[in-house]
Amino acid sequence: MRHKLVPARHQAGSLTVICGSMFSGKTEELIRLVRRSMHARKTVQVFKSALDTRCDTTVIRTHDGTSFNAIAVSDTATLAAMITADTQVIGIEEVQFLDEPIVDLCTNLADSGVNVIVAGLDQDFRGLPFTFMPRLMALADNVMKLHAICKVCGEEASRTQRLVNGRPASWNEPTILIGADESYEARCRKCHSIRDLPAQNRPIANRKTNAKSGEKPPKRAAIAEAPPLEDNVAGNESSGIQLEMF
Ligand SMILES: [Zn+2]
Repeated sequence: MRHKLVPARHQAGSLTVICGSMFSGKTEELIRLVRRSMHARKTVQVFKSALDTRCDTTVIRTHDGTSFNAIAVSDTATLAAMITADTQVIGIEEVQFLDEPIVDLCTNLADSGVNVIVAGLDQDFRGLPFTFMPRLMALADNVMKLHAICKVCGEEASRTQRLVNGRPASWNEPTILIGADESYEARCRKCHSIRDLPAQNRPIANRKTNAKSGEKPPKRAAIAEAPPLEDNVAGNESSGIQLEMF
């Protein structure tokens, strides 16, 4: 038997976005918030993108093995059709894999009094905003940006490193490649690496050395833009080699 303390239409709706890199604990946080709502006797429905083949069709599984029942959907229209009239809380896992109309559906549901909690990647493997996620985050009432630990240096990680056969992925590869022969790990901004990075996306200090490999940037320009970095370049002869990794 369902217990409802507050009818959906009478509660203030909200949109909460849980975002961050892979391994940052987004799913665990989504499950925590959904369980909290269930303890408050709210009527809950949890969905996940059917694109995500890591899990069973009706189970959300976290990286540490915790699982939670969910309805697998392939797009926004399917998800919308499955929402029941008495639902007060809706959770959506891997929201970035759904289609863009999910943004309007989430805001409409929140406007209608539903507490919507979504979890998703905010950046793709290149470190660029993931499709409609910026819009979803801007329209949200609450945004929780979680961090993982960098696999290389142990600092806080905000990016997802894609590795193909042990090498950093190329900039030109497709964004979504679920189930492909590749691996991912969390990395900080400094340790995150992409092959074939376009010149305009390289760190400022790296651009000057790009024309002729290994050549130091002009001293005057480097001092004007970033004095601490110039100190580092002057005192570290291997900096030209590091730049080649990008
Ligand atoms: Zn790092």
